[in-house]
Amino acid sequence: MYFDIQRFSTHDGDGIRSILFLKGCSLACPWCQNPESRSEKRSLLFDQRLCLQDCQACQKETNTITRNKEGLIVIDRLAIDEKVLDSLTQCCPTQALSVCGKETQQDILFETLLKDKAFYIQSGGGVTFSGGEPLMQPELVENIAKRMHQQGINTAIETCMHVPWKNIERVLPYIDCWLTDLKHTDQQKFQEWAKGSLSRIQKNFQQLALHAKRIVIRIPIVPGFNDTEQELHAIIDFAVSLKACCELHLLPYHTLGINKYDLLDMPYHCADKPLDNPVLLINAQEYAQNHPQSVQKLTVTIRG
Ligand code: SF4
Ligand code: SF4
Repeated sequence: MYFDIQRFSTHDGDGIRSILFLKGCSLACPWCQNPESRSEKRSLLFDQRLCLQDCQACQKETNTITRNKEGLIVIDRLAIDEKVLDSLTQCCPTQALSVCGKETQQDILFETLLKDKAFYIQSGGGVTFSGGEPLMQPELVENIAKRMHQQGINTAIETCMHVPWKNIERVLPYIDCWLTDLKHTDQQKFQEWAKGSLSRIQKNFQQLALHAKRIVIRIPIVPGFNDTEQELHAIIDFAVSLKACCELHLLPYHTLGINKYDLLDMPYHCADKPLDNPVLLINAQEYAQNHPQSVQKLTVTIRG
């Protein structure tokens, strides 16, 4: 299942790219700015600001959506099933109500992505798989990435690496660039915050480093989670030890996705302000650039 295709992107890999966003993730990072991507099933988003006061279209489709005395929409989310989601997919005239997630044949996805082939080739770009965690759907990634390679198109993947190694191994021959997250080195803290196994991720990194053509490691820097010099140094130490890691991106925490939690009726448990610590970022950049154990000279950038 996928939830979006973003064309003409210049952020997630080299050149001009199309990003295929797949549903489902096995982690639960509280800072996640794509919460609509986390469930492997479809998700319902509702934006009160776009709702028309006199409209009853969604209430006619299902009794799981009603209006309260104040005229505001109330959604019984626990009662929403696949059939209700089907009925709501096309019903809202303003997109106040929207269903995130679509099942489509892989052939159709491939043909859609292939439409921009000329731009990919001309710009040195290609196709990037993102999410959620795209490697929750390795068969889909393998199929499309393999066919992109047959067309001479570059492929990249954004992954948190929290998947069985066999999922990574399956797509390895068809991925040119691995844009991977490395969030912490402390097992317990990682488990507490992201609800996953850090040792699984670290073992995957060690294996991947032996086989991948190119690894870019991205470190989200999150207040209260890993925003100390000591924690960042430990993460960077791990990153530089990996063969094939040629680039490091430092990603200061931002809050651009907070609104989506409201739309999904989910609580948000992370800082409500962006990270504001330029000294920490610059020091981390210098530490990584001049790291004595670095296998190769790293390009280290601070991303906005
Ligand atoms: S269909 Fe859309 S605009 Fe109409 S009541 Fe429902 S949410 Fe509001
Ligand atoms: S790994 Fe990425 S998509 Fe998954 S919960 Fe964390 S930030 Fe969100």
